[in-house]
Amino acid sequence: MAAAGYSAVVDRLMAALGRLPGIGARSSERLAHHLLKCPPEEAIELAEAIRSARDRIRHCQVCFHLTEADEPLCSICRDPRRDQSTVCVVEQSRDLIAMEKAATFQGVYHVLLGRLAPLSGIGPDQLTIDALANRVQSGTIRELIMATNPNLEGDGTALLVAKRLGGSEVKITRLARGLATGSTLEFANRDMLADAFSGRHPL
Ligand SMILES: [Zn+2]
Repeated sequence: MAAAGYSAVVDRLMAALGRLPGIGARSSERLAHHLLKCPPEEAIELAEAIRSARDRIRHCQVCFHLTEADEPLCSICRDPRRDQSTVCVVEQSRDLIAMEKAATFQGVYHVLLGRLAPLSGIGPDQLTIDALANRVQSGTIRELIMATNPNLEGDGTALLVAKRLGGSEVKITRLARGLATGSTLEFANRDMLADAFSGRHPL
């Protein structure tokens, strides 16, 4: 999508920006102009922030939330006040952050790193279901709360996990539909999430 009249360097910048979610051709052109016009240190700070995050951030070895490279476990898994027997299963770290902001959940999490989306080629193997099965097998977990999003793919993912772990002792529940069908957890407010937790039902 090389725009006429730009040098190869500017084209490269616009192409990189254009690959970001929600950024179309016009936005990438506008952002590129901004980055070329703003104080150099501002643009370099952005580049450095991206580099440092990519270099330093890893997935937690237990729950797959984000953690820093020198901490194999995330701050939630390390927190002795959290109830290790109740695990809330979410699609992505952003959902976990939404739950933490609502501050209604005292257990720990498991981040699937996506959701089942056969049409986009995302199957069970791309998710962290094996790791979750291993956690369940270790025996400390009593309940898994499926908190995948209340839409077709989120429901499918919850059912898949329930089917996979159904033979085990663990109780599997699904967040109540205090959340409107088709909505996403990321944008749920505190009361909605509290209702969804307290009204959870067996899956
Ligand atoms: Zn963790």
